[in-house]
Amino acid sequence: MNLILLGAPGAGKGTQAEVIERECGLPQISTGNILKAAVKNATPIGLQAKSFMDSGALVPDEVVIGILKDRIAEDDCKGGFILDGFPRTVPQADALDAMGVIIDKVISIEVPDEKITKRLSGRRACPDCGATYHVEYNPPKTEGICDKCGGKLVIRDDDKPETVIERLKTYKEKTAPLIDYYKAKGKLVTVIGQEEVSDTSKLVLEAVK
Ligand code: AMP
Repeated sequence: MNLILLGAPGAGKGTQAEVIERECGLPQISTGNILKAAVKNATPIGLQAKSFMDSGALVPDEVVIGILKDRIAEDDCKGGFILDGFPRTVPQADALDAMGVIIDKVISIEVPDEKITKRLSGRRACPDCGATYHVEYNPPKTEGICDKCGGKLVIRDDDKPETVIERLKTYKEKTAPLIDYYKAKGKLVTVIGQEEVSDTSKLVLEAVK
């Protein structure tokens, strides 16, 4: 089964993709995580992508499509996969078609803008081990310190308020049109994001079945 998780940044795609991965045994493919690792390791793709990511813009389609194509060719994707954060534009969705990928379902997680802004602006990350927290919803045991490795937590560049506004704008302009794109193909299932992560997970797992 090949699934796509759609939704604004901060809607919980990554969290829900992890739940599906655990419950259904499908690998989660997050182009955002692949790109962040490339930036951290200062690879040529990372160096090319960094400025786009830091400003809340999308990395150019041809770069991301290349990354995705290589990733889904790996062995663990043979029985299906969950795409988290791809496609983010209509040309990326068309590229999936052109690769011959059959998508079974597209789960769109919908969360109102005010909640998205609150979720993203409270996010804190550990630059040393990559763990993420939220000042309100998932605080570390000691304020500002990573539970896992003791690193000093920071606000990622792309979670800064001005960048959050830009990311939401980018989502509306470039990614939201995919909702109608997949609705027209009869693939779309909408899930309303709940206050509790576990409540959203229940709805997502129902949608997958
Ligand atoms: P994410 O963690 O999914 O929000 O991704 C972080 C950043 O990586 C995004 O703000 C984009 O700059 C970039 N990115 C991730 N996936 C894509 C994609 N499919 N197309 C273009 N840019 C992407």
